[in-house]
Amino acid sequence: MGTAATPAGHHHGAVPRGADVIVVGAGIHGCSTALFLARRGASVLVLEKDHCARHASGVNAGGVRQLIRHVAEIPLSVLSMGLWERITELTGDDCGFESHGQVLVAESEEDLEAMRERVADLQRRGFTHEELIDRQELKALVPAVAEYCPGGIVSRRDGAAIPFRSTQAIYRAAQRTGARFLEGVSVTGVQRHAERWHVSTSAGEFSAPVVVNAAGAWADRLAAAVGEPVPLVPIAPMLMITSRVPEFIKPVVILRSRKLSFKQFANGTVMIGGGHLATLDRDRNHTQIDWRKLQDSARTVWELFPVMRGTTVVRAWAGIEGRMADDLPVVGPSRTAPGFYHQFGFSAHGFQLGPGTGQAMAELVITGKSPVPIDGLGVERFARGPGV
Ligand SMILES: Cc1cc2nc3c(=O)[nH]c(=O)nc-3n(C[C@H](O)[C@H](O)[C@H](O)COP(=O)(O)OP(=O)(O)OC[C@H]3O[C@@H](n4cnc5c(N)ncnc54)[C@H](O)[C@@H]3O)c2cc1C
Repeated sequence: MGTAATPAGHHHGAVPRGADVIVVGAGIHGCSTALFLARRGASVLVLEKDHCARHASGVNAGGVRQLIRHVAEIPLSVLSMGLWERITELTGDDCGFESHGQVLVAESEEDLEAMRERVADLQRRGFTHEELIDRQELKALVPAVAEYCPGGIVSRRDGAAIPFRSTQAIYRAAQRTGARFLEGVSVTGVQRHAERWHVSTSAGEFSAPVVVNAAGAWADRLAAAVGEPVPLVPIAPMLMITSRVPEFIKPVVILRSRKLSFKQFANGTVMIGGGHLATLDRDRNHTQIDWRKLQDSARTVWELFPVMRGTTVVRAWAGIEGRMADDLPVVGPSRTAPGFYHQFGFSAHGFQLGPGTGQAMAELVITGKSPVPIDGLGVERFARGPGV
């Protein structure tokens, strides 16, 4: 066994080239799956083309949100929430996780009516984390909100964490539990023979009977390599940070009909996001901020929170993420390739899902069964080809 060298020139020492499971991608999903697999005694090798948390998992808004999720991902989100609540026990780091709730603000009676129907529907399905709130309760939770807002939905256990720190904490916990990580190693192909996957990389070949595709905005390439093309579009959501304002809001606030998410940090700065997109080139890890679209977000904040008028934007950035045609992730086994699993396409809301999906994926790999329902997230929904 030789010494593996990355293109960046880092040496990985004498690395065993086999494992029980190879995970592609060291974002929060790959790291979390590696942690839970290692806890179950599997030997795990994680291959990462850049470095841990370099992409979406390190630069997102940190929203830990069960609020307003599609029903197909609520079971994973609820599982995740329980893990976020004991993230210190799990990783040895509190990850900056704070739970002050998340509030979806209605800007009209029509908004509120749609929310009333949603909460009733969730309750019929047995989910109680979303509560409808009236104008008075909204004012109590978010005193600075504009007078015209008639109410909303609160998910009280939700909150936020620090993304880079969280992903790195899970990575370190996985390493301590025995998972091995090779960073600066790009997976270029996969082939199955003799009951093993042979994974070609920029640092030679590795093999394992099982591969987990947690390759974020690049995961469609691996999916296509095992005969499962998927309609993934790489996107680059933007965030911006304002100058400090005296503390005026505790929960994270999101809107229903306009693109906005909004969070104040303890130091007074406010992070504004909500889905406006930068342009990107995923092959060069490059994004270009679109200031005109950020102006739209700034205008929405100006209207919704009069207290913010007069603050300045001090910086903005974007992160590269994989978005599926139906905005739902792909989580589950390949339908064509034995021992190959997908965990990608989180469509700009996968940070919160990291711990729970990692746990579910580890159980799926080891026992063949996810601990929570993942029906509706399988790759087979695209079996008729991209765009379905
Ligand atoms: C600006 C922004 C704000 C967001 N806000 C929130 C939020 O508030 N709450 C929330 O829940 N979610 C949020 N998200 C979404 C969340 O960040 C992502 O869904 C989540 O981080 C995806 O994690 P991942 O591990 O799948 O992907 P990534 O973090 O992208 O990790 C995938 C990794 O795979 C590696 N890789 C890819 N191809 C290869 C290959 N061939 N070989 C080796 N390695 C490879 C990549 O380099 C990358 O590091 C936001 C995203 C962005 C961009």
